[in-house]
Amino acid sequence: MKAHDGMYIDGAWRPAAGRDTIAVVNPADEQVIAEVPAGGAEDVDAAVRAARAALPAWAATAPAERAARIAALRDVLVARKDEIARTVTAELGAPLPFSQAVHAGVPVLVAGSYAELAASYAFEEKVGNSTVYAEPVGVVGAITPWNYPLHQIVAKVAAALAAGCTVVLKPAEDTPLTAQLFAEAVHEAGVPAGVFNLVTGLGPVAGQALAEHDGVDLVSFTGSTAVGKRIGATAGAAVKRVALELGGKSANVILPSADLAKAVGVGVANVMGNSGQTCSAWTRMLVHTSQYDEAVALAAEAAAKYGDRIGPLVNAKQHARVRGYIEKGVAEGARLVAGGPEAPREQGYFVSPTVFADVTPEMTIAQEEIFGPVVSLIRYEDEDDALRIANGTVYGLAGAVWAGDDAEAVAFARRMDTGQVDINGGRFNPLAPFGGYKQSGVGRELGSHGLAEYLQTKSLQF
Ligand code: NAP
Ligand code: MG
Repeated sequence: MKAHDGMYIDGAWRPAAGRDTIAVVNPADEQVIAEVPAGGAEDVDAAVRAARAALPAWAATAPAERAARIAALRDVLVARKDEIARTVTAELGAPLPFSQAVHAGVPVLVAGSYAELAASYAFEEKVGNSTVYAEPVGVVGAITPWNYPLHQIVAKVAAALAAGCTVVLKPAEDTPLTAQLFAEAVHEAGVPAGVFNLVTGLGPVAGQALAEHDGVDLVSFTGSTAVGKRIGATAGAAVKRVALELGGKSANVILPSADLAKAVGVGVANVMGNSGQTCSAWTRMLVHTSQYDEAVALAAEAAAKYGDRIGPLVNAKQHARVRGYIEKGVAEGARLVAGGPEAPREQGYFVSPTVFADVTPEMTIAQEEIFGPVVSLIRYEDEDDALRIANGTVYGLAGAVWAGDDAEAVAFARRMDTGQVDINGGRFNPLAPFGGYKQSGVGRELGSHGLAEYLQTKSLQF
């Protein structure tokens, strides 16, 4: 596959300071498809300097002109959507139709939403005898994961550009080609040199150098809770702003009045999409004891139907990790009703769609994020029991509630300790704030709430 052998810094592709490289592997067949440079502290420093130099002019650019650049970026993402989808499929492994619809499609919606928000947001307001200005925070260090490689980038970069911030991006080592395509798109959209910069590299090297850099005003991180805690500590020690989008273990709560077949079917599909590598996936399905056996049969059937349509996991390490969790589930006494730990193919990092029944809330598979195509059915006795189980993890990113009518589902959702809940199969909304309660994170992405993360306020009194 096409790859740049440099970093995108100050509006051009420049050679890396060192010679280290990252091999990009296609997880469907385990073949190396490209190499990209693995940047270090020197590359990060050059990128941060470029971003800082570009900041005053970009921050002073009229919001309408920033909006026009973001709209142009959206148009490039539209024009190149097939190439984007093929690239995501090659380095992440997602089936092509999923890459087209979700990995290439959602970033277009999000970029479009920030083109509109940049033009319409009230960057200035009157409060009594004061004028309050929303000003850009400054230089953003963005660190992103591989699971939604373009979406995670666009959710940060489009919001930051709309706010008037400049950015240095360190994407995941597993998906650098999508990030390089994004840098090309930014360039084609006519975003001024230095406003967006890309340093590919390893987390503990380039990522850490970015998070620690004095010239970064805000670190926006999406990834694991373990790394997020370190980044939060580093940022806190330097009194830097920080936004953290971390892991999840979301509950899909099916109340007895719900359409059981629909709730189970949508719930299984929600977990299997992207091979279970979705931080907000509803990996715990909570079912009333009176409907439990029926739900188990429906879930097993839905998973079996999924069969071959599922892509591989992203890499060998995740493959081993997820299979290890499935073995642990069996060892702790959960009952496998679909899938299992055996690799379904000789080549590629595939795991079969897996359903566990008889899962109890304290089991490892009900507490820890598996990040694979594994759904656990947990039985509850009454609503309070369901709520206790739903809220009984360290996470609080997302969830779902199903009931006979929306009002009943809403009443339950309001008691959940979680940042986003889908009511009776509610649709994705690119303007709805996304982010976690508890250890799922700090801050929100998407929509005006996401834009506000990149703004700080100044008030003038008259
Ligand atoms: P990860 O290891 O935390 O990686 C995320 C990013 O951080 C990558 O770019 C990674 O670089 C970098 N990184 C790793 N160590 C670092 C360090 N010491 N300093 C600075 N940066 C560092 O997470 P992952 O395993 O790739 O991704 C899966 C996790 O992300 C899951 O737990 C999932 O729930 C979470 N996630 C959360 C959300 C959300 O919105 N809440 C969205 C997606 C994923 P490398 O690629 O080189 O490791
Ligand atoms: Mg990692």
